[in-house]
Amino acid sequence: MGLFSKLKSLFVRQPTIDWEDLEALLIQADLGPAFTDQLLDSLRARGGALRLEDIAEATRQEIIKVLPERGAPLRRAESGPTVILVTGVNGTGKTTSTAKLAWMLQRQGHRVLLAAADTFRAAAIEQLEAWATRLGVAIVKTQYQADPAAVCFEAHDRAVREGFDFLICDTAGRLHTRHNLMEELGKIRRVLARKDPSAPHETLLVVDATTGSNALNQAREFQKALGSLTGVIVTKLDGSGKGGIVIPIQQELGIPVRFIGTGEKAEDFEPFGAAAFVERIL
Ligand code: GDP
Repeated sequence: MGLFSKLKSLFVRQPTIDWEDLEALLIQADLGPAFTDQLLDSLRARGGALRLEDIAEATRQEIIKVLPERGAPLRRAESGPTVILVTGVNGTGKTTSTAKLAWMLQRQGHRVLLAAADTFRAAAIEQLEAWATRLGVAIVKTQYQADPAAVCFEAHDRAVREGFDFLICDTAGRLHTRHNLMEELGKIRRVLARKDPSAPHETLLVVDATTGSNALNQAREFQKALGSLTGVIVTKLDGSGKGGIVIPIQQELGIPVRFIGTGEKAEDFEPFGAAAFVERIL
């Protein structure tokens, strides 16, 4: 249920709005304390009795202020393949999003190569391969527990040799061993930088909107561990009416949301846009 429906049922139960209830509702919607304060201040400044429409309109306006209208376009390599690393905790939709991104770029006319570099989970390799076969996207893979940096190295060679425009690497995302994660992604980075000093051009973190504040914590932890996230992909924005977490990710961490996942199919994926996002969560 979206925020607007929840507000509506609050108004049905009580004719005048209780500020505390409203605050609780905004926090529950994962909008974060900073944004919630900002919104309540703006509503108080309006004065007069609060109406449902006023709250919805103020929410819309404040969200638009916080979020960029459009996600920045992907940074591109000046020459050779543009390299995108995708990371994220298991179950967030990392592999699915990697495949969806490849499919989106391919439909835009780009030649895309995938690298199955999450070698820690056998299932991740198989799953990415299944997507690649289904979507007709080229893939470089290796065995379970092979060196992920070696897979990326080999994939970059092939991308250069065969003139691919994009190389998208599905990399590990386990957080409980932050040190290993840093080492692993650090090594992938070093190996790629030897091929192209400007690579990787993007490092994208996948988070699941339905996990609310967990998604924010993951973004915070990854940013701390890697220090170089260039964007976030927020998945599972379909159905649940959840998605408010996009706001504190942007506002508190300053990491832009670049793409959103809206379902399980390959085409359920789009560049982030503030206006469409507001309608989705309201
Ligand atoms: P990974 O473990 O992070 O690689 O996650 P997967 O890519 O395997 O995805 C986990 C589950 O989430 C799968 O069942 C996907 O179909 C599902 N999933 C991924 N993205 C979305 C999305 O945007 N919406 C919905 N509803 N499901 C998604």
